[in-house]
Amino acid sequence: MRLSAVKGTFDILPDDQPRWRHLLDTTARVLGRAGVDEITTPIFEHREVFEKSVGESADLVVQKEMYTFQDRGGRWLTLRPEFTAGVLRAFIEHGMHTWPSPVKLWSAGPAFRAENVQRGRFRQFHQVNCELLGGDSALLDAEAIALLVDTLSAAGLPGVHVKVGSVGDPEDRERYNGYLREALAPFERELSDTSRERLRLNPMRILDSKDAGDQALVAELLRPLDMLGNAARGHFDEVLAALERWGITYEVESAIVRGLDYYRRTAFEVHHAGIGAQSALGGGGRYDGLIAKLGGPDVPGVGWAFGIERVLDALSGEGVGPVERRRPLAYLVALDAEAVGELAALARRLRAEHRVEHSYTPRNPGKGLRDADRSGARLAVLRGSRERAAGVVMLKDLRTGDQQSLDLSELPDALRRSAGASQDDSARLAATRDH
Ligand code: AMP
Repeated sequence: MRLSAVKGTFDILPDDQPRWRHLLDTTARVLGRAGVDEITTPIFEHREVFEKSVGESADLVVQKEMYTFQDRGGRWLTLRPEFTAGVLRAFIEHGMHTWPSPVKLWSAGPAFRAENVQRGRFRQFHQVNCELLGGDSALLDAEAIALLVDTLSAAGLPGVHVKVGSVGDPEDRERYNGYLREALAPFERELSDTSRERLRLNPMRILDSKDAGDQALVAELLRPLDMLGNAARGHFDEVLAALERWGITYEVESAIVRGLDYYRRTAFEVHHAGIGAQSALGGGGRYDGLIAKLGGPDVPGVGWAFGIERVLDALSGEGVGPVERRRPLAYLVALDAEAVGELAALARRLRAEHRVEHSYTPRNPGKGLRDADRSGARLAVLRGSRERAAGVVMLKDLRTGDQQSLDLSELPDALRRSAGASQDDSARLAATRDH
């Protein structure tokens, strides 16, 4: 992955793909076992879907980050800045509240935010997203956190740092926002521009400011957790108790505030030290009331998302995950024009079982072997007029240099044996790494 400074995004090259696939395969396995099914929703939605979910107190910073445009039919569309709103739109549209509850859904794909680009912060990035819909039990909040931790752990990051907090019920939020407005009013002019805007719209998010001046101003103030009502407090304690029972280590973070202001009660993040200033791998929380706000039934929900690029950054820092691009088992070298056609047909048959490549023009043996070598193949199979006359191919093991002439009908078995041997090799390697 090499970041394009102009586009604020990057190409995911073939060499990046094994680790990417490993992460998504692991996600599908871990979440699937917990009854979470995959859903794919569109990359763009009507602007209202996101605007409604962000809310009237819409944080202008979040709004400014959205890519909203008018298409040729005059429709206002927004490229998703996150998945939740689109997944909930689908939940409503397909009447999923009648499905067995809770409805558990995960998705993966690109998301878009007009951000200032830096390490771990791009304008097109990718997320894995998970939503558990239809229950208000604290057990579901804890399950959501556990699934995020378990997915990252299974992918190769067992030691992520979990931070959990609560932003309380709407009335707790109101009370806290009122408290912040009052406490910060005398210092309004000292706040950063963004925080001054937030003081009007959603004061709680000032706690999230990276500005040192803002941080100093809020350092001594009460946190959302200090002002929770009894219901939210009880719920939060239950979430923590479940995490403890399941052996999930966490830190209570009294000032956790999520980027979007639809969260209620539980909010959480997972961090990793090795990926620079943008250390959050993922985060989420509970958003009871959001489905109703989007025009659906009043079904509660809790969910999270992690950033695929940031997780891959952490995995490569730890040296975890498959890094090798897949190589062909065999490269078929055509030594004359007739062999080109023969080997193309042979490759088609062998590809039912193995990754096989071949030359598209006649090659001399030296160049043909160099092609085979560059492809990373383990075996080269050569065929020209001499081999044709004898009904054979020349099989060369490119690692050992061993060479033998083989009846054409024996080739599939020889490849199978060789593929088996390389699998044994990788199993041995993996076993050594595990110990
Ligand atoms: P958020 O909804 O902002 O908490 O995003 C969830 C996760 O998505 C974050 O923890 C990051 O890992 C990832 N993420 C969010 N914004 C970006 C971005 N601009 N570039 C790359 N990853 C991002």
